[in-house]
Amino acid sequence: MTAHEIDTPETGITPGGTSGAFRDVLSKDHARRGKPPLHFVDMTPEERIAGVESLGLPKFRAKQLANHYYGHFDVDAAEYSDFPAAKRAEAAEMFFPQLITEVTRQVADQGTTIKTLWRLFDGSLIESVLMRYPTRTTLCISSQVGCGMGCPFCATGKMGLTRNMSAGEIVEQVRVAAKMMRDGEVAGGPGRLSNIVFMGMGEPMGNYKSVLSAVRQISAMPPEGFGISARNITVSTVGVVPGIKKLTAEGLPVRLAVSLHAPSDELRDELVPMNRRFNTTQVLDAAHDYWLASKRRVSIEYALMRGINDQAEHARLLAKRLNHYGDNWAHVNPIPLNPIEGSRWTASKPEDEARFLEILHDAGITATLRDTRGQDIDGACGQLAAKER
Ligand code: SF4
Repeated sequence: MTAHEIDTPETGITPGGTSGAFRDVLSKDHARRGKPPLHFVDMTPEERIAGVESLGLPKFRAKQLANHYYGHFDVDAAEYSDFPAAKRAEAAEMFFPQLITEVTRQVADQGTTIKTLWRLFDGSLIESVLMRYPTRTTLCISSQVGCGMGCPFCATGKMGLTRNMSAGEIVEQVRVAAKMMRDGEVAGGPGRLSNIVFMGMGEPMGNYKSVLSAVRQISAMPPEGFGISARNITVSTVGVVPGIKKLTAEGLPVRLAVSLHAPSDELRDELVPMNRRFNTTQVLDAAHDYWLASKRRVSIEYALMRGINDQAEHARLLAKRLNHYGDNWAHVNPIPLNPIEGSRWTASKPEDEARFLEILHDAGITATLRDTRGQDIDGACGQLAAKER
């Protein structure tokens, strides 16, 4: 990757995405919308200090603000009883502009799944989905408006990429969900947000810098972050190899998830167009290197599509390709595809699903059928199309 690409992540275009065998799919208003307001989350420690000093306050006030934000999920400066009353409104305006505004909230699974549609400063719509389980609560967040990867079976892919989200916009989804859990707004009473998955809208590796900044702020202990263990954060990718390599070099214990969806280049070229830029061998090699460096098992996401990639031959080839590396390095998550309206791609038959899993298990591959929480509110994978209803 060239320095130029590192310095200009804001376009959201993945490395190599402007030419070659696969070009990122851009929406017609791609990146024409300006930048989101600068938020506390987007500022360096020095910028935060300069900010409080410009209000005529000593620098320790920056740490107080961090405590309110990360420690108490609180952006309502009027309530900051330990902060000079005369400066609260100015501080709120300077550091905590409202970046995401709730448009709708849909609830399913007896109140334990909540999908929220958010409006951003420029009118863009994105979604996040909160899923409470008996032993953990997971938030699926978006990192881009739309997605440029063009997978034909995916609702988000149909939109194309509009723009990258700022670290502030990404982290705000987490703060609000953490606050909802703490305040008992999710069925089951007060609790703690424990897991984050970057599997909402967008290709996280197309917005690497902001995603990484968000990962660090989600995982750092208060007052630098929310204190959600990096081990409980999953960064997914469709197989943007330079991004996987960069993440490997970070040395963070986050989980990597690769949306493979097909075991051969022939089939994957069709299902995941990015494969024409980075093929299955390159993707699996990079993912396996991630396992070697992090000792975190890589999740292989595999959306089962009826008659397309769900037959015995596909399962056998997938097992062979994973076992090629020989060290139980991957965990396959076959996901029953959630059909989208007007699409020729549909979910596998239950018997094909069962056979697929059995073949993987017989080959010694760890595999569990991923549950499809939120299916009745279009909140499962590949269905985040951000429509206002
Ligand atoms: S499946 Fe994922 S990578 Fe592909 S278009 Fe949809 S959101 Fe983008």
